[in-house]
Order: sequence, then structure tokens, then C-alpha cells
Amino acid sequence: MTKIHNNPTQFIEEAMKGFGRLHPDLVRSVYGGFVRATDTPAGKVAVIVGGGSGHYPAFAGWVGPGLADGAVVGNVFSSPSAQQAYSVAKAAERGGGVLFSYGNYAGDVLNFDLAEARLREEGIPARTVLVTDDVMSAPAASHHKRRGVAGDLVVFKIAGAAAEAGYDLDAVVDVVERANDRTVSFGVAFAGCTLPGAAEPLFMLPAGVMGVGMGVHGEPGVSEQPVVPSGQLASLLVDRLLEERPDGANRVAVVINGLGGTKYEELFVLWNDVAQILDQHDLTIVAPEVGELITSLDMAGCSVTLLWLDDELEKLWLAPAHTAGFRRGETAPVARRAIGPKDVEQQLAIYPPATPDSQAAAANLVAILEAVRQQLTSCEEELGKLDSFAGDGDHGRQMTTGITAACAAAQSAAKAGAGVATTLAAAGDAWADKAGGTSGALWGTGLRAASSRLSDDAGPTSAAALSAVLAAREHVLSFGRAQRGDKTLLDALLPFAEVLDTQLADGAPLSVAWTTAATEAEREAQATAPLFPRIGRARVIAQRSVGHPDPGAVSLALVMRTVGENLR
Ligand code: ADP
Ligand code: MG
Repeated sequence: MTKIHNNPTQFIEEAMKGFGRLHPDLVRSVYGGFVRATDTPAGKVAVIVGGGSGHYPAFAGWVGPGLADGAVVGNVFSSPSAQQAYSVAKAAERGGGVLFSYGNYAGDVLNFDLAEARLREEGIPARTVLVTDDVMSAPAASHHKRRGVAGDLVVFKIAGAAAEAGYDLDAVVDVVERANDRTVSFGVAFAGCTLPGAAEPLFMLPAGVMGVGMGVHGEPGVSEQPVVPSGQLASLLVDRLLEERPDGANRVAVVINGLGGTKYEELFVLWNDVAQILDQHDLTIVAPEVGELITSLDMAGCSVTLLWLDDELEKLWLAPAHTAGFRRGETAPVARRAIGPKDVEQQLAIYPPATPDSQAAAANLVAILEAVRQQLTSCEEELGKLDSFAGDGDHGRQMTTGITAACAAAQSAAKAGAGVATTLAAAGDAWADKAGGTSGALWGTGLRAASSRLSDDAGPTSAAALSAVLAAREHVLSFGRAQRGDKTLLDALLPFAEVLDTQLADGAPLSVAWTTAATEAEREAQATAPLFPRIGRARVIAQRSVGHPDPGAVSLALVMRTVGENLR
């Protein structure tokens, strides 16, 4: 339970303000997160880590010499937006390119990939290495599909040390990929965590029972079993990790991680037993770490992580680092940055010229978006409730945050004389930037994809409107990689597009076709109730979602109905 806050929705913002105020010598706050307060040499690769909050010292606590150049800070357990990731990278970048490294979660991948693409468009080399260490989330043969847990620390440590040693971007990527391939983790949980402001834990375990292989947001593992003595717990975890010991590996970096609600003394008891087992296997333990490193709010539990060392990895693992949440050895003294980081939040918007027809359509679009904003705002609570059965309860908030930002951006674009294509693109970018999460990325980039089929030279025809919907559909399909029946917003979007297509082909006027399609989308959204979510955050506790329609499908249908009612 989080007891200290002023307003739960501002929890992370205020916590990060306090963090920045506490460590002015180490970090400087920028839009989207933190960068180092200290100088870095020109040409150094910038290592950018990040993800949702609630995991301190991951990730802001790892910014500093020898480790990360920047950390992107999302909301509690939610991925940051693409704009946040871009902004932090841009502020930290020193001419040597950018390495993004973060745990493998769908929302993070969507948003960080967009940031990476944007940096590349600007000519800044950018690469990504996902951390995929949780042995319980996929078999060894699909190592790259595993989710990232406490292995974040060891992989980021290798990345930070390699970049600090002057490796170029390709060399950093090579060694970090190797580090990730040789990193494995396995954990258990004893009790769930409670989101700030929530009355109930996100999940619960019966007393005396532990969840085996559980993730850092409460994602279930392979089994539940009675809590066992420390010696048996150590064997359970270490024996499984030793199954993936690479040939010839006999030196190992070890991390025992507490999830936030487990005492250090308990971790020391476990360490005693873990170290003994590793000794029995004639393994040399190198610079072990035991403590709270990647927490999960107040979740009780722990994990063991092994990094199978080779000479180069060992040197990098042992290299000095100086951050708020991780220190090793003595780093060379560094000066503070002489100039403040570039502020990339306020970008001067420049709009391409537009014809009066397209400008008039842009004004209509602004009015439609405003109607959608009002509708979503009045349904915010209901959508949040739908998302709380199996998701994280933030869908209503994500949608209103997104549409509010989209409205504001569209309004300023239209006011400045932008055409309908540019106005819709601006709305999409603002949505993706401000809302974050899976739905924020999908809606934001979906609207941008739709805008590519409209024009600043003419008002949209019915055919162009259909083409825009189809472009958004293609984009959401390829970007989100979900299929019909996975219980996502696609279950409303696909039938919507189909009906719109056939209605227009039959000669119906756009507003009639659109409303008919929206009615079908509403029906299909409600029909998702009995389904099991197969993708996204709700997949984790899928059975709890059965009986309730998918929040993303419901909100999509609602948006479409409102658009239909306001089409002129
Ligand atoms: P988050 O899941 O990051 O908390 P939201 O709660 O705002 O984001 O949105 C959840 C909705 O996103 C789900 O109800 C589902 O409709 C949609 N969604 C999740 N993953 C996908 C995906 N891969 N493709 C399409 N829609 C998805
Ligand atoms: Mg959600």
C-alpha cells in the first residue's frame, strides 16, 4: 500500500521531482525523464534505459557515470510515450549514437521503436537491445521472447561500462546482446502490490503460498506452491538457472533482487544458500549484488539472476559506476554539464500550406474531436472500470489524456491554417506523446497513419475517409501484431472497417455508412465479453476478464459512434 502521496495520479511526477531535488549532482530532469548532470565526452554512445515506474532504483536511479546516460520515466507500470523516449535520448545524445535498452514488454517496444525511428530519420544512429532474462516466460530456444526482469541491471551495467570505455555503437550492441544472451533470472512472489491510491492489491496470493516464476508486475508464473525453507527455495531457483549454463562458463555475476516488500535480512539468508549451491558447482562468484534493485511497488518476493561471464563481460561488470541506486568502485571525477540539456519538448510547429477546402475540413475535424473528447470524458470512469477487471484500470484515463492532447494540438494546427491531413497528424502525434501505454501508442500512430490518406490540398471525399480508416487498420494490425479474437480494440476496428467499406460500395452517404459501421463495432465490442485476452496487459490475468467486454474495443466503438453523429 502506498501511503505517502498528495494525489495518487500525481504520484510519480511528485516522486520524480523529489528524486531530482535529492540528486542534483547526478541527474538533471528533462521532458520524459532524466539525463546525467555530469559531462560526457563528445562521441560517446548514449545509453538510454527506461520503462514504467514503480521499480526504483530502476530506472532513474541508474543514471550516472559508468551506467546510463538517461532514463525514460513512464507512469506506474506503464510504458513511457515515444515522445518521452525521444526527448531523453535527444538530450543525452553526444554524437556517438544512442543505445536503447529496456525490458521486453509490448507497450515499451511500440513506443521506444517509434523514438528510435525518429532519431534515425534525423540522422542520429540508434539501436536497441531488449532485456529478455526471465526463464519462466519462454523456453530457452525462444530466449528473445522472454520478458525482462532483474536482468535489466546486469545488461544495463555492461552497456554503461562499454559505452564509458569508448566502444562505438556497433561494438556496444555486440557486447550487450551477448550479455543479454548470457543472462537468466528466476523469481518467486509471496504477496501482491497495490497501485498508489488503490484500495486493493493488483493480485493476491493465498497465505503460505508463493507464485513461482512470477513477473515484476504480478504476471503469473508456472505454478503456485507452498512457501518452502530458504535452502529449498535457493535450489528451486538456482537449479533451474544452471540448466542454461553455457559450455565452459565457470565464472558468474550474481544478483539477488528483492521486489520491494522483502527484507534485506531475508535476502541475506537466501544469499547464503544460493552462494553455497554455486560453490558446490565449482562456480566462481564475481561481485555479487544482493538488495532491492528492480522493485515492483510493495510486492513481496525475490529473484536470482546469473550473468555467465567471459573475460570481456567480467571486465565490464567490474568497471566503476556512480549512480543514486548503484555504486561500484571509484569513478574518475567529472565536471557538471556546462550547458543545460536541450529542451526538445517545445518544438516550433511549422505547418505546410493548405487549400481553403482542406482548412474547412480541418475545422470540422476539430469539432468532431471536441465531441469525442466530451464523450470519452463522460465515460472515463466506466472505461477505467472495464480495464480494471484484468488490466491496470487506466484505460479511461489514457483515452481522455490522449484525446485532450489531440484536441489541443488539432486546434492549434487548424488555427494556424493547417489542412486536414496535417491537423489529423498533429492530433495523432499529441495523443501518442501524452497518453503513453498500449492504447496511446496505437491510437496516436493509428491517427497519423490515417492522416497519410488525407490531403492538405482538398477536402476529404468518402473514398478518402474510407482509405484513412483502412490505413489505420493496417497500421494497428502490423504495429500491434494482434489478431481478430485476441480481445483487443481490433475486434471493433475490423468489423467497423468492413461494414464501412461495404456500405460505401453500396452507395450509402458517408454519415449513414459510418453510423451503421459504428453500430456493428459496438455490437462486436460487447461480443468480446466471453473471450480470453491473448495479447496486451490483460493477457496476464486473462480469466478475470471473461464476462467483461474489452475496454479498448468498447472505447473504439464509442469514438466511432460519436464521430458518425458529428460528420457533416
Ligand atoms: P495499457 O494496456 O498499456 O494499460 P490501455 O489500458 O489504455 O493500455 O489499453 C488497453 C487496450 O489496448 C486493451 O483493452 C486492448 O483493446 C488494446 N490493446 C492492447 N494490446 C493491443 C494490441 N497488440 N493490438 C491492438 N490493441 C491492443
Ligand atoms: Mg490499461
